Amino acid sequence: MITQKANLINVIKNIYFTKNEPVSVVHFVTNRCNARCSFCFIDFDNPKTFEGELSLDEIDLLTKNLGSSLLNVNLTGGEPFARKDLTEIAKLYLKNTTAQSIYITTNASLPDRIEKFARDISSFSPSTELSFQISIDDVPEKHNKVRKIKNLFNNCIDSYRLLKKISTKINPVVSITVTHENCDNIKNIFDYLYNKCEIDAIKCCIVRDEGVYKTPEEKRKKIFEAYNWLTETLKDKIQDKKVLNYNKSIQGKLHKKKDIISWDMVKEMYLKPKYISPCHAASLFGIITADGKVYPCEILEDKLLGDLREHKMSFMNIWKSKKTKETKDFILKSKCNCTYECALTYNILGNYRYQPKLFSSLFNLD
Ligand code: SF4
Ligand code: SF4
Repeated sequence: MITQKANLINVIKNIYFTKNEPVSVVHFVTNRCNARCSFCFIDFDNPKTFEGELSLDEIDLLTKNLGSSLLNVNLTGGEPFARKDLTEIAKLYLKNTTAQSIYITTNASLPDRIEKFARDISSFSPSTELSFQISIDDVPEKHNKVRKIKNLFNNCIDSYRLLKKISTKINPVVSITVTHENCDNIKNIFDYLYNKCEIDAIKCCIVRDEGVYKTPEEKRKKIFEAYNWLTETLKDKIQDKKVLNYNKSIQGKLHKKKDIISWDMVKEMYLKPKYISPCHAASLFGIITADGKVYPCEILEDKLLGDLREHKMSFMNIWKSKKTKETKDFILKSKCNCTYECALTYNILGNYRYQPKLFSSLFNLD
């Protein structure tokens, strides 16, 4: 089934015509994190960063007001597993919304907590697709040093292996963020993960300017070259079925093709920002901060759409507001563009021009 809980006709109508309900949200459940990466966008020096996290009761209300087209939630942070009630948060999304997949972005420093979460959620909702994006950006010593956590690399590999064994609905994938710190060593890093650690699910993204992080200008070209090499290598491995980032479901095939289209778009836009196709942030996609603010995306920090606490925790109240309508118009009219992968996913899935490529991928026609 393409949709399990949401009505398929409504979802299609929403994605291609009305575009007025979220299909995916990124929920930053906390800003707390036990790592301190040099490229992190969180301002850890500001005590206000950690104030006002949404409570479980508030998340219960929020998840009851997320429309009828939601297919995916990305629970992220900070480090999402810093919240001991992450399992309860995920269960609220599964109980109260039409979401059928959960995506967790983690530094994987807490393998026991991760494994318990995966087992609890898969027994609570066996049909839910549970993906874990485990961030690894370097070979062991350097990875531990950049993220400032002892033994982190080994914990990441342990988490990956533990998750692989649980169920076919649980998909751990290692994600390499290409940054100014690792761009000179990207071939060795890939080789180490793929050949030495035998990781067969690998994705990548490119570091972006956000929050307190700014890319050193002199490193941009190097970062681009490393990303180009890595994405082309991954494409070959995916083609040869040596890297398997998704299962064989319809959604898996669509996402596999979507990743490849997205990598190519990022390469077109990274060095010289460029508009390619409309972004559907504030339409099909949005973000919720740890303290309940709703934004179209992570980048437009001056485009606050609303504070859930001022709207009785109703996301849809904010989503249907005049402010959101104006922001959607701004995004479309200004031809807003960036390399933010989560938003690119819905840019691709929600645009007619990419449908032939996505559709042909279902039949392996390309
Ligand atoms: S693990 Fe993620 S949230 Fe934590 S410091 Fe690093 S980039 Fe930031
Ligand atoms: S193009 Fe980027 S910055 Fe603009 S709305 Fe979309 S995600 Fe946000």
